[in-house]
Amino acid sequence: MKERMIMKDKLESLGRLVAGIAHEIRNPLTSIKAYIELIPYKYDKKEFREKISEDVPKEIERLNSIISNLLEYAKPKVPNKEMVKVHDEILGIIVFFSNQIKKKNIKLICNMKEDLFIYVDKQQFKQIMINFLLNAIEAFEKTENPEICITAEKNGDFAVIIIKDNGCGIASENEKKIFEPFFTTKDNGTGLGLSISYQFIKENGGDITVSSHLETGTKINMILPLFKEKRSTANV
Ligand code: ADP
Ligand code: MG
Repeated sequence: MKERMIMKDKLESLGRLVAGIAHEIRNPLTSIKAYIELIPYKYDKKEFREKISEDVPKEIERLNSIISNLLEYAKPKVPNKEMVKVHDEILGIIVFFSNQIKKKNIKLICNMKEDLFIYVDKQQFKQIMINFLLNAIEAFEKTENPEICITAEKNGDFAVIIIKDNGCGIASENEKKIFEPFFTTKDNGTGLGLSISYQFIKENGGDITVSSHLETGTKINMILPLFKEKRSTANV
């Protein structure tokens, strides 16, 4: 019975994945088709020729990037693990977002231990943090006093990294779906950020839990394995 439920869950999420891809690809195709159908009627108009030569390549580029994203998602990657200083990497990413943080008047509270070293793929770790921060920033459309709080500390053999925002939150019926590829509630979202992050976290020996309430905000709790001195001589 339980297995049948799991199978049903998997088929349902596969169904949503295929529907997501179909939707993503159909949008640019519809737009390209509309332009081509207008050519016999509007080709004489300079503005039309300019618009078509600007918009159609953009739509094709969008299709291309959907395909690249899909391939990237499907490609099995072995993480290239090394010692990563959590504090410094996260600060680097915050600098990357500093313009948006300033523009949106976001209060950023950081409480990160300086001597926290994890053993992960550095590029993947950066990508994970970028995805989380981007989602937090995007959750602030209607938030009056936007705030992001990042904490990083040690717990046993793991680093615990928490990213908390007081943004729009996630509806309880969506909580189960947020890690699925192409699940998005945004007009221009790809729905790939969290699914790629989840994959990276698991491949690096970590785990993630999300707790969220509508209008109160979202808390991401991620653990990643600490770097151990011994491993540096035995495994690197
Ligand atoms: P995208 O950001 O392109 O929509 P993601 O995989 O990053 O795709 O996120 C999937 C969905 O999870 C989002 O569309 C949003 O509904 C929800 N979500 C993720 N993070 C947050 C957050 N911090 N606050 C509110 N909703 C979030
Ligand atoms: Mg995202």
